[in-house]
Amino acid sequence: MKRLINCDSLFQAGHIKNILQQAGIDCLIKNEQLSGGLGEIPFLDCLPELWILRNKDFERAQSLLKSSCNANISGTPWGCMNCGERNESHFAVCWKCGIHDSINT
Ligand SMILES: [Zn+2]
Repeated sequence: MKRLINCDSLFQAGHIKNILQQAGIDCLIKNEQLSGGLGEIPFLDCLPELWILRNKDFERAQSLLKSSCNANISGTPWGCMNCGERNESHFAVCWKCGIHDSINT
């Protein structure tokens, strides 16, 4: 089992889960019950995480995630300071490594 992404909201996690399940990729959301409607930036380990159950599905899940995100962009993509990955604006954390780009900045 591999972690695909740290989501910035349960809504996002559910959205991605739907996309993956439509493609026949089994996944689960961790920390689902811990996410509240807090105004503060939550700690990373309290954010919902999306996990891919079968490792062989992981790369396909990543490309699905990328293409699904490219479909509905309204903002400026940002580059992850940790891994250099390009992230769409609606991602609060890097989709690849889960690092938040703007903590303490
Ligand atoms: Zn990254």
